[in-house]
Amino acid sequence: MSMRFEEFIAAENRLGAHNYKPLDVVLSRGQGVWLWDVDGKKYLDCLSAYSAVNQGHCHPKILQTMIEQAGRLTLTSRAFHNDQLALFYEDIAELTGSHKVLPMNSGAEAVESALKAVRKWGYEVKGVPMDKAEVIVCSDNFHGRTLGIVGFSTDPDAREGFGPFAPGFVVVPFGDAVALEKAITPNTVAFLVEPIQGEAGVIIPSADYFPKVRALCSEHRITLVLDEIQTGLGRAGKLLAEEHDAIEADVTLVGKALSGGFYPISAVLSNSEVLGVLQPGQHGSTFGGNPLACAIARTAMKVLVEEGMIENSAELGGYFLEQLRGIRSNAIKEVRGRGLMLAVELQPEAGGAYPIIHALKKRGILAKDTHGNTIRISPPLVITRDEVDWALEQFESVLTGIAA
Ligand SMILES: *Cc1c(COP(=O)(O)O)cnc(C)c1O
Repeated sequence: MSMRFEEFIAAENRLGAHNYKPLDVVLSRGQGVWLWDVDGKKYLDCLSAYSAVNQGHCHPKILQTMIEQAGRLTLTSRAFHNDQLALFYEDIAELTGSHKVLPMNSGAEAVESALKAVRKWGYEVKGVPMDKAEVIVCSDNFHGRTLGIVGFSTDPDAREGFGPFAPGFVVVPFGDAVALEKAITPNTVAFLVEPIQGEAGVIIPSADYFPKVRALCSEHRITLVLDEIQTGLGRAGKLLAEEHDAIEADVTLVGKALSGGFYPISAVLSNSEVLGVLQPGQHGSTFGGNPLACAIARTAMKVLVEEGMIENSAELGGYFLEQLRGIRSNAIKEVRGRGLMLAVELQPEAGGAYPIIHALKKRGILAKDTHGNTIRISPPLVITRDEVDWALEQFESVLTGIAA
């Protein structure tokens, strides 16, 4: 360990809020699927900044766009028009088939914005009595860290000590359409759900769940809000994970990979009925829809499609999954995934994910656990078959080594 490495970590510990517990690696460079630490050691990134870097680190075309736009115009606020926003709207509406777009910055802001819009829609369009709107959410959800959102989290770490929370949220088990139906009242305005629960450990519901959810929402005139901030933009092997279930959300939330990791940009995508309720002065963001973000997002979406990253996610994700399932190890409880959104859940007695993540790091793979016992594997979507094969060798030796 060089002094530099130790100094960086010591300064972070001394000066920063301790709201993260990072792996002891200090990164200074990235290209494609690869990262380098301050000592020049190379790693395969199996986290992709929680799927914000689907396009690979420092994608040259996104970088070029960022440099060009940064030298021309970065921020005007929405008090004035800028010449990038309309182009962003056109591109994202065409790509996703949405009618209206609300640009924000972080994923949590997109969630909050959608919750505001569906409540207002409930009062103005559905006719719910004022201040009675209910939004149904799922247990083990992850939708971000703002006060409104953590109020309906079921994770004690996320919520304890942060109350009092906003009322109007009802929690039902994920994957249970009967429970959803029971929770519906005349005041229900929306059902907010992840197509695949990411932070909960890559939990994929049964094939009949989302078709049932879609039917229930249509029948009871409830806005189906799919949080695709992690699952969307190719991560699960389709542009949007909803395509796996052959359904369409009323409101779709995207973020993370919308910029390929260059810039925080998120968006609420919907029809005119829901987003149409927001009138001038009723919602906003200083940075939302800024020209730098819009230009970056356009190129980030373009390379995702043009360079076949979504197809690569489907194909190599399927291969990766099948090969991981072939690893014979007593430490593994289950391997699951869709596209390049993969997870290895360990047996409770296997000693937790931490030693495995540590061993992987020594072998040049950066991965992260969720909830202590599940290792998520989500490399950038530009990964090649050779790189997957190399990663598999590392996973196999570490997972079989632990079991031995
Ligand atoms: C990451 C994430 C968010 C929050 O995004 P931030 O940009 O961190 O605010 C919301 N929903 C899901 C499903 C996510 O994975």
